[in-house]
Amino acid sequence: MQKLVRFAAIGALFTMLLVGCQSNTQRKNYFIDRGTYMVENHYRAQGSDERIRFLFFHYTAEDFNSALKTLTDENVSAHYLVPADPPQKDGKYVVWQLVPEYQRAWHAGASAWRGRTNLNDTSIGIEIENKGYQENILGRIWSPYNAQQTELVIALSEDIVRRYSILPQNVVGHMDIAPHRKLDPGPLFPWKKLYEHGIGAWPDQATVHKYLAMRAKDEPVDLLKLQNKLVAYGYSIEANRTNDIESHSIIAAFQMHFRPADFRGLPDAETEAIADALLEKYGSNP
Ligand SMILES: [Zn+2]
Repeated sequence: MQKLVRFAAIGALFTMLLVGCQSNTQRKNYFIDRGTYMVENHYRAQGSDERIRFLFFHYTAEDFNSALKTLTDENVSAHYLVPADPPQKDGKYVVWQLVPEYQRAWHAGASAWRGRTNLNDTSIGIEIENKGYQENILGRIWSPYNAQQTELVIALSEDIVRRYSILPQNVVGHMDIAPHRKLDPGPLFPWKKLYEHGIGAWPDQATVHKYLAMRAKDEPVDLLKLQNKLVAYGYSIEANRTNDIESHSIIAAFQMHFRPADFRGLPDAETEAIADALLEKYGSNP
């Protein structure tokens, strides 16, 4: 027994010597000189993941030059600013990067999504030049996003989502994460088109119809159930059975995102069926 142990020890020593010999020539490639000390970076831990988990869209509510000024002063910022009519360089649309992706931009503010807060820490923010809405006697008239701008938003987002493996349900709007304060990027943002390019979530129509068909005709919506489903999907609300301002703004944000034809914030069967279809496809907020 003792002999075996000694033999194993000699073996280990021999291996160490061998590795030691190799290290003189090969392992010096793993050293980084940081001036006052050295770093050895050969080994990689398996327990790690991306800091960036979310992608949030905003509209600027002002023109490009004003937005550029606002987003480069010391109060608010975003990683990217997409012009309404992006210029081209070498046949490609140009986006303005204002904050490097490894740094935090200040775009989310007080917000929550899927049980997380301090969302600036873990997100990329894209501001898109768009006036938002204008009030007139008929109500709010929302500004559309044009085709070239959308093409650029898609190219940029596809790249970000791929590089950080951002889940579809984690690509949302400012209105989704701060529904009591924000309406951007509004009901005309092309979520479905982005989904068709692999960016963000969208319910399958067949599943929405399945859930609608499961209801009795004229069955009223149970507001508490709907609120709980929106919480399960990611929205932050205390479910309380009443469609107070908080509840109303969350239902409206959800509708602006997933059913922009009617986003009055009223609980209805189709809204609940869309929530069901999304939960079935993407799962509940863990
Ligand atoms: Zn915003």
